[in-house]
Amino acid sequence: MIPAVLPTYNRAPLTFVRGEGSWLTEADGTRYLDLGAGIAVNALGHANPELVAALTEQAQKLWHVSNLYRIPEQERLAEALVSSTFADTVFFTNSGTEAAELAIKMARKYWYDKDQPERVEIVTFEGSFHGRSTGAIAAAGSEKMVKGFGPLMPGFVHLKWGDHDGLKAAVGPKTAAIMIEPIQGEGGIRPLPDQCLKGLRELCDKTGALLILDEVQCGMGRTGRLFAHEWAGVTPDIMMVAKGIGGGFPLGAVLATEAAASGMVAGTHGSTYGGNPLACAVGAKVVEIIADPDFLSEVNRKAALFRQKLEALVATHPDVFESVRGQGLMLGLKCKVAPADVVKAGFGEHVLTVPAADNVVRVLPPLTITDEEIAEAVARLDRAAAEVTGNV
Ligand SMILES: *Cc1c(COP(=O)(O)O)cnc(C)c1O
Repeated sequence: MIPAVLPTYNRAPLTFVRGEGSWLTEADGTRYLDLGAGIAVNALGHANPELVAALTEQAQKLWHVSNLYRIPEQERLAEALVSSTFADTVFFTNSGTEAAELAIKMARKYWYDKDQPERVEIVTFEGSFHGRSTGAIAAAGSEKMVKGFGPLMPGFVHLKWGDHDGLKAAVGPKTAAIMIEPIQGEGGIRPLPDQCLKGLRELCDKTGALLILDEVQCGMGRTGRLFAHEWAGVTPDIMMVAKGIGGGFPLGAVLATEAAASGMVAGTHGSTYGGNPLACAVGAKVVEIIADPDFLSEVNRKAALFRQKLEALVATHPDVFESVRGQGLMLGLKCKVAPADVVKAGFGEHVLTVPAADNVVRVLPPLTITDEEIAEAVARLDRAAAEVTGNV
């Protein structure tokens, strides 16, 4: 018999009833150190007091009015994002998938309004993940996600990771945009080298194609900059944000330059819940905390410490791990064994990690993780790795 909850997830037999900082607690009091953070969502830890205050204060005032009216919390958050990024304007969604949908629509509308309606193609990359809507699965194009759900939305051109010649051939008079994650998350913490992101920007400048960056997972301080593309010193035309920006409250956003967004006039897009006062009150507090340069330099300091300890872990368990990759607190342990085995052994040591493609275990702790918790996390991963090989 089908469970009451549609069984599209293979869930671990763990049930948490409370969270605090980097820790999750089961009903019997068992505590787990959380290196997954709701898949890079709980950027400021569980039950962060400042976020709880922002949410509950707003909850007592006003929950929802619809986008038929002005929403001061939404305007405040949009202004904070505009003032700290390349963007001139922001649309709020409830998820990363919805942000992908708008990014795609925006790029097509841009060319339609420029009297080049044939420019509809969006170039995407193998191993990418942009969400689970019909548009987002067509964009990523992986067999695993699209099988059985056709016919797919046309207009996506899929390239192999690192296929420079294919890229030059693919971007032409029919290209509306290039869409890419600066660091692939689901694809296995695969960073796009800075020169490649610069090269993509140059190619877009030369051909007019728009550059869409999907920073749903790598954005919001995760890499040690507010957004990952800042490391390469280039900016996109359109950017998708979600996950960390709500700190656990559903919130996403599309950020864009004035030019890229020019076609999105009244009536061209909308969302009932998107940008509602609760989500935006929380988002504004999250952005205020994470955009602080002192906060980001702490992320970088802790990331260096964590990485150094993970490098040592890899050296201690060469039969389990191959290497550490990623940037900031978006780290991946490339495994020589099935990553699911490492994640499962971690459950036994009460440490939570997240598997990804390309044989990688993701380490995405709250950005507020402490030095002591980093040491504790690596000690637990060390015991878990020993269990995987039976060298206990
Ligand atoms: C998670 C994710 C999405 C989809 O976000 P949802 O909020 O699950 O819809 C899109 N892009 C990237 C890079 C992601 O990691």
